[in-house]
Amino acid sequence: MRRQVGVIPKLAQIAVAAVLLALPAVAIAADDSPPAPPSVRMVPGTIAIDSAAEEAVREALGDVEVALPPVEAYAITDVRFLGDHALVSVIGLSGLTPDRPWNLPDNGAWFGLVAIARLADGRWTGALEGTPDFTAIVERIPEHILDASAKLGLDPLRRPSLPASAYRFPWPDGTNMYYGSLGVHSNGFPSLVSGWMAVDMLSDGNTAAGHAPNQLLASAAGTITYRCAPRVGETSTAIKIGTQMYTHLLYSANLYVGRTVTQGETLGQLKSGTFSEVCGYASQGAGWFHVHWGFPGTSPFEAGGWSLNLSDSVWRRGNESRSANTWLRADPGVPARVYYFPRVMRR
Ligand SMILES: [Zn+2]
Repeated sequence: MRRQVGVIPKLAQIAVAAVLLALPAVAIAADDSPPAPPSVRMVPGTIAIDSAAEEAVREALGDVEVALPPVEAYAITDVRFLGDHALVSVIGLSGLTPDRPWNLPDNGAWFGLVAIARLADGRWTGALEGTPDFTAIVERIPEHILDASAKLGLDPLRRPSLPASAYRFPWPDGTNMYYGSLGVHSNGFPSLVSGWMAVDMLSDGNTAAGHAPNQLLASAAGTITYRCAPRVGETSTAIKIGTQMYTHLLYSANLYVGRTVTQGETLGQLKSGTFSEVCGYASQGAGWFHVHWGFPGTSPFEAGGWSLNLSDSVWRRGNESRSANTWLRADPGVPARVYYFPRVMRR
């Protein structure tokens, strides 16, 4: 959404000054229009929307109010239509190569949400999460379509800074998942998503052996604020809930942007076997499945009563330790530790 801004951001001031220096005096007097937004490149995503709506998304991404990482392009990975509004999941892409299409784990450098609204004249306007315009658009969505708690959970400016319980392991208590050989690795395109790391947790679903069933749980409460919906013919998805990102879930209509979950609530099943899709890929045995579990790259990462050292990739609890290629059990009754999330997560 374009607005008249009272204070021109510093970078824009510099840009304007540079233009003023370069232009003859007569041109200065003639041009008092606001500075053009930085150019935003859109590439095909996993779903298609009409060009007018896409243009509103592109304009919102060029909003100079919010500093996004310097990605090469953006793509739309999900749209949730709500009457004359829509919540659009957008991925920022880096490391693109002409010889192959992009995919989320290799190229995803930023994951976010744009709210768009259809105007009376049929045009669309949009705003990026974290801006007052985003708040305004989300607030105008009728309550019966999107309830107040969902609106709060979606909006970084209004999300309550409520204490959250400690992260739990995202699989059922008393069962084990196998800590993947990569140990701690990047959640997405490494040089830009430095604030996000990930581990792979696997199982073959052999519950008789104590292995976790194919049931992914929310490791913390929160609202789904990003989704990579699969391309036609594909079935895997990735979602972001607060400071957690879960990749390689089987797509389900129940995993929609704006859904709020409690800690330990079942999110769904993971995609088993080897596959290669836009929202993720895996190379694993036919009956095996795994979650690529992303979290804040702050050391250490604490979950399930264990503390993960991001430097040596070892989980530790008291005098116990678990390195990559070992099983890790989710134990019940882990004492809750309270975290306070900042109202706006910095990248
Ligand atoms: Zn992974």
